[in-house]
Amino acid sequence: MSAADAASARAPRPDEFTADRPFVFRNATVITVDSPGVIEGGDVLVRGDAIEAVGPSLEVPEGTLEIDASGGILTPGFVDSHRHMWQTALRGYGGDWALSQYFVFYYLQWGEVFRPEDVYAGNLLSALESVDTGVTTTLDWSHGLRNPDYGEAALAALREIPGRFVLAYGNYLAGPWEWSNTPEFRKFVSDNFSSPDDMMRLQLAFDVPGSAEFPERAAFEAARELGLRVTTHAGVWGATTDTAITQMYDAGFMTPEITYVHAASLNEQSYQKIAATGGTISVATESEQSAGQGYPSSWVARRYGIPTSISMDTSVWWSADFFSAMRATLSADRSRDHLEAHAVNETIVANRLRAEDVVRMATMGGAKALGMEDVIGSITPGKKADLLLIKNDDSPAMTPILHPYAHVVYQAGTADVHTVVVNGRVVKYAGKRIGLELAPIADKVAASVEYVRSKLGDQAWDEGMHPELPPAEQIENPYTYTEGDAHVTAATGDR
Ligand SMILES: [Zn+2]
Repeated sequence: MSAADAASARAPRPDEFTADRPFVFRNATVITVDSPGVIEGGDVLVRGDAIEAVGPSLEVPEGTLEIDASGGILTPGFVDSHRHMWQTALRGYGGDWALSQYFVFYYLQWGEVFRPEDVYAGNLLSALESVDTGVTTTLDWSHGLRNPDYGEAALAALREIPGRFVLAYGNYLAGPWEWSNTPEFRKFVSDNFSSPDDMMRLQLAFDVPGSAEFPERAAFEAARELGLRVTTHAGVWGATTDTAITQMYDAGFMTPEITYVHAASLNEQSYQKIAATGGTISVATESEQSAGQGYPSSWVARRYGIPTSISMDTSVWWSADFFSAMRATLSADRSRDHLEAHAVNETIVANRLRAEDVVRMATMGGAKALGMEDVIGSITPGKKADLLLIKNDDSPAMTPILHPYAHVVYQAGTADVHTVVVNGRVVKYAGKRIGLELAPIADKVAASVEYVRSKLGDQAWDEGMHPELPPAEQIENPYTYTEGDAHVTAATGDR
């Protein structure tokens, strides 16, 4: 069938997308994240699990289904390089938390409450949210895996949802030097990851608090022995510091296989070590802005030339909305530049970080952080077909499309996610998921919430959700108001 026939081709029905039938996106604004960067009126042909061809007016095989992508932007699927998916069952619960309250809740008070089925429920919901919103690959920073039964539960959920995942195995309730070397954990690895699978990979997830003995050495050695990448929360204000970077560097564990999550409050030497050893930074802007790990680090990664990816961290505060993540990242980076300039009485007249850079972080940046840059991250013939069509013919915000990168970052939203493809499988089409029901997952999550709440008791549950307000700050105001007084009081007084 030629491109000329496309205009008369009828829209496919969802049930027509089958594994052996090719399909083509017609007439999209294609952001390839490869060269050429943008193709206006471009087509992308998918066959099997791969991208077969990219370009204008493609000739396609007989029987190819045609998706009319006109008025839309086709991008690689987004890649989230750090999300604690199991915490999604408590979605929004910690929206008013400071980081210390998160640590107290999970690490000190209630970590042992959570069962494998709670991890399973949270992961299911989070995984569904990923594919629903165009995040085709998600790294599950799963640090609540107290034994391999928890690991099996996490994996079972990720296998049920047709997304691409990396299980970053962790257990914050025990030392990584211990659990990474137990026979049970090694059996879990050989049971589940003995053959390479681009749909489900494994990493180790642990932090280095910087204690003098550096016991994490044995966990890094385990990772090396197993051939696994490591993801670690680094440069978290008050928690993981330059000491950890020094220990890792001196022991030779800083390699391109390490992802430094946040990396938001490190010194110059630490950033130079990350840059020099080929590591990557995962910036979780909404997290850093709200929880206080440090200023979102894209501005500093930029200066040291450190490759950057984007992540959402945890839905106990924030959703998995990658449009929001990109928007926050671009704005925070520019905000930093403005504040620094104003501090020396200067004015920024040209923004350094561009929308294109942020789209790249959200796609190829993530692929690189996972060591998958040859597999996903761009719309390139031969790569796996992980694709997102952003199109909404009824949305005022989707017309006109003049600057495709800026449109993705500052104009589009999750309501404009039209079609999502993972590994060549259409999981969402025309704004509707195909055969992926929310209701049974929501029931499992509701049961998990009910259980956790019953273990905490109503008082602890309520206190956990509503941390005490610090003393009010009221600035002396030399100006006096007459009619405004009541209003000012109402805005700053008791709630
Ligand atoms: Zn995290």
